[in-house]
Amino acid sequence: MTTPMVKFDNVTKRYGSLTVLDSLNLEIAPNEKVAIIGPSGSGKTTVLRMLMTLERINDGVIYVDGEPMTHMEKNGALVPASERHLRRVRGNIGMVFQHFNLFPHMSALKNCMEAPIHVLGLPRVEAEERAAELLDMVGLGDKKGHYPSQLSGGQQQRVAIARALAMRPKVMLFDEVTSALDPELVGEVLQVIRRLAKEHSLTMLMVTHQMGFAKEFADRVCFFHSGKIAEQGAPEDLFNNPREERTQQFLSAVL
Ligand code: ADP
Repeated sequence: MTTPMVKFDNVTKRYGSLTVLDSLNLEIAPNEKVAIIGPSGSGKTTVLRMLMTLERINDGVIYVDGEPMTHMEKNGALVPASERHLRRVRGNIGMVFQHFNLFPHMSALKNCMEAPIHVLGLPRVEAEERAAELLDMVGLGDKKGHYPSQLSGGQQQRVAIARALAMRPKVMLFDEVTSALDPELVGEVLQVIRRLAKEHSLTMLMVTHQMGFAKEFADRVCFFHSGKIAEQGAPEDLFNNPREERTQQFLSAVL
């Protein structure tokens, strides 16, 4: 069996007395596209936040490309990871947020150059070349010098995608990336993600409320409920023939 690109092994995350991820097991194969759906508060975004190591988990181990991320090996045992170790393994992960989070005082091009220069140590010329290529790829070749405030929400989100890709991640995380957009701008962002999924060998994990897109984009859909995967399967099975009552209820409310 190939090593999973992402593996949650019995991962628990609590906030005070609230268990948000409850002994979660999730494996994602290299190049697999997975959509996470489920009711609000079921832990969907927390899965992405834990992968970005924005916070520590309480129990279990997260692996990225076979390597423990939340832990490191010491004398044959797994011990909690140092900040340095977390940062290094996190280098494999790119994330696109609901609210773009671009640097407002930098042009689109600069936004995409910043981390490759300062984190990867790429020479400026190379970083600029890579940034320009990626902005071309997301259809913003003519907007490289524009600042975020001069761009529409859809364009800003496409810059955010290019910026994440500039770090050459193995895994891309998308957190409700179209929820903050006006309806007429959703299509252009989904089109970029669709192309990425088709043309690049990237592992992709997406939290989404867009069931239509999840159906078309994902190899597998995971339905979350109370910090666990209540049901998962190929989109055509999960959407057309949900087995669990909770999945049926959720889908009949949102479809
Ligand atoms: P979803 O993405 O499925 O809507 P989340 O993963 O964002 O759910 O959140 C799951 C639960 O964890 C929610 O009840 C939320 O209020 C709680 N939660 C998330 N982040 C925090 C935090 N930093 N402190 C306390 N509770 C949190």
